[in-house]
Amino acid sequence: MKSMNIRNIAIIAHVDHGKTTLVDAMLRQSGTFRANQNVVERVMDSNDLERERGITILSKNTAVNWLDTKINIVDTPGHADFGGEVERVLKMVDGVLLIVDSFEGPMPQTRFVLRKALELKLVPIVVINKIDRPDARPAEVVDEVLDLFIELGADDEQLDFPVIYASARDGLAGMEPDQLTHSFEPLFKVVLEHIPAPSVDVEAPLQLLVTTLDYDDYVGKIVIGRIVRGKVRQGESITLIKRDGSFERAKIGKVYTYEGLKRIDVPEAEAGEIVALTGLTTANIGETVADASNPEALPVIEVDEPTLTMNFIVNNSPFAGLEGEFVTSRKLRERLYKEIETNVSLRVEETDSADSFKVSGRGELHLSILIENMRREGYELQVSKPEVIYKTVDGEKCEPIEYLICDIPETSMGTVIELLGKRKAEMVNMTHISQTQMRVEFKVPARGLIGFRGDFLTETRGEGIMSHVFHGYEPFKGEIPGRSRGVLIAFETGEATTYGLHSAQERGITFIEPGTKVYEGMIVGESNREQDIEVNVARKKHVTNMRSSNAEEALRLEKAKIFTLEQALEYIDDDELVEITPKSIRLRKKYLD
Ligand code: GDP
Repeated sequence: MKSMNIRNIAIIAHVDHGKTTLVDAMLRQSGTFRANQNVVERVMDSNDLERERGITILSKNTAVNWLDTKINIVDTPGHADFGGEVERVLKMVDGVLLIVDSFEGPMPQTRFVLRKALELKLVPIVVINKIDRPDARPAEVVDEVLDLFIELGADDEQLDFPVIYASARDGLAGMEPDQLTHSFEPLFKVVLEHIPAPSVDVEAPLQLLVTTLDYDDYVGKIVIGRIVRGKVRQGESITLIKRDGSFERAKIGKVYTYEGLKRIDVPEAEAGEIVALTGLTTANIGETVADASNPEALPVIEVDEPTLTMNFIVNNSPFAGLEGEFVTSRKLRERLYKEIETNVSLRVEETDSADSFKVSGRGELHLSILIENMRREGYELQVSKPEVIYKTVDGEKCEPIEYLICDIPETSMGTVIELLGKRKAEMVNMTHISQTQMRVEFKVPARGLIGFRGDFLTETRGEGIMSHVFHGYEPFKGEIPGRSRGVLIAFETGEATTYGLHSAQERGITFIEPGTKVYEGMIVGESNREQDIEVNVARKKHVTNMRSSNAEEALRLEKAKIFTLEQALEYIDDDELVEITPKSIRLRKKYLD
């Protein structure tokens, strides 16, 4: 049975190509907003961090009505994939809107999601946006999209994609670049005609796949997913089928569907709809919400295991709390436990110390996003150096291996391969993706990726794109040589800063080991960079509270000074010095006891 009045689509766009503006315009033009309702709030990208990094971390839902059809629009995560989120989100929809800037063309960051969408046989519609740009080159951009689709393995039907030319900013759309109307009708028509309506059986026993989790202080945990079969009703008893196949009885609280940017409370919803449910406090991603008496599981969706662990430690320094919020261990604990309600590949464990929590995730970027978000919320904390999670398999020490995909300019290929070779990576594949760009794929120990992103960005002058997925556990590959992790310390009158992980790495700054004495003015740095290490000396009394994700800017804001190697040496006592090389100074680590 077809549920004709629903379409479920996902939006794929490179950051700044106009996704938010386009969805805003769709909302306005479809009359989903009443005339007196202002779209002040921007639709997607609510997380500042997402914009700065140019990736979308959280997936969000919006819905617009066109004529008598409801179009559910799901945002897709960018190239960073933490535990199979991209695939889960795409499984909620039947088609995708690929938004491409009419001048810039398709960007490598969207390839990962696009490839998944094509593999899942979703129907693509291409929107060439910003057609008003004077430098627009729509015909070439469409050709580039076609080439990309071919390269990513699109089938014949997908290659026959419809194209809409639009100016989201000016509210224009059309089937040809020179035949635009002051309406998005052409886009809505194409969506209704090309994207199949969900093919569903509303009378069959309920099945819904828990795709995303959300959390709201008032209603608690929210389960989001598409109803695959049957209906959900408010207050109804259901069976929750766990990933191991066991059953749990539970009761649905409220049922919400989406309208515009809002969730609306409804008595029931039918198969084909994307809904949000409350009351299912024990539900987890990948589980099936099923009929109480006829429970049948949907195919399990893989959730990648955490491979990297770090300690999050309460900042007990006397300066803590001067500018930010003083964080007690209770607060930190609460915050972390709330995070795991929705962050599926994250684990939190207690340690012997009440002030320290062991947090495990899918890699440095995954953990660093959490750390930066927490810092922005005002949490002051110290973090330990990340370590990979080893396992013993058949009496053998095994380590996590990641499958790494690097899209890089051909000119930096040699250096990147060499860098990864040192990190025990094994090259698996290499292809030209354009005349100047290469895609190189590797199997690499997760530990080899620690600190790699910064070097990678430096070597590719910011043009490289990397993404990795968990590959499996393999026997330990041996020590990775030459990774001196000396700690650089400089003195003045400030306090140590732990920086945001990501920005710190971009500058080659590493992590404070737990228990490292926090000196006034200390900044830790990594000494294996191919350049003079700069010792950063803070002049202010208190610099722990750097909110900026950009270390350069943070230093400037905090009026910190950057010293040369020679100048820095003046601040260092002889007994602390381990080694001086033309590239670095290594200092003895000092411990509290
Ligand atoms: P997102 O990052 O993909 O969500 O992109 P936004 O919707 O935030 O748009 C990025 C920038 O492009 C903003 O400055 C928009 O005003 C601008 N923009 C969006 N659509 C258009 C368009 O059709 N034409 C032009 N010239 N600019 C646009």
